[in-house]
Amino acid sequence: MDQAEDVKRRLMDGNGLFKSTADPCMLSKLSKKQEPFVAILACSDSRVDPEKVFNLSLGSAFVVRTAGNCASDPSVLGSLEYATAHLGIKAIVVMGHTGCGAVKASCECCDVANLKSVMADIDVAKSTLKGLDAKDQDKVAETNVRVQMRRLVDCSAVIGEAVRKERLAVYGAMFDIQTGAVRFV
Ligand SMILES: [Zn+2]
Repeated sequence: MDQAEDVKRRLMDGNGLFKSTADPCMLSKLSKKQEPFVAILACSDSRVDPEKVFNLSLGSAFVVRTAGNCASDPSVLGSLEYATAHLGIKAIVVMGHTGCGAVKASCECCDVANLKSVMADIDVAKSTLKGLDAKDQDKVAETNVRVQMRRLVDCSAVIGEAVRKERLAVYGAMFDIQTGAVRFV
């Protein structure tokens, strides 16, 4: 368990540094109300932290992260519905990325019991591509972004209505883990 204790210590050291450098005024303001300007659905991959990728500060983004940036779980839809209905966000960004492990796992038929819905979603993305494109995992990841964007609008009455009434935009994006660049798709 020494290694697990090391994990905790590393996190507490990090928090100590954060506390000592964070602007107390900013923390005080945020403690009263959150007003994120965007919601982001991104992959859980440790290399694609949206706040870092978009250089955002605390309180700027309402972020939901799942393997493969999939919205199949009701808690994901519910979280984004909350941001839409109660936080007044104007846009949701679904961000996929190159070198996605969830897409790779799906393409290689890796069997992880509780990830079946994620695998099923990525299979939908694969089935819309043909020939070599269906084997190009980064193309599958980009198509999966579009599948998830459609899912948000089709499976959530709250998000769907906000989009139809032009109170909310749903954007897709791909993050290149090699160059650090984001491309809206
Ligand atoms: Zn990923």
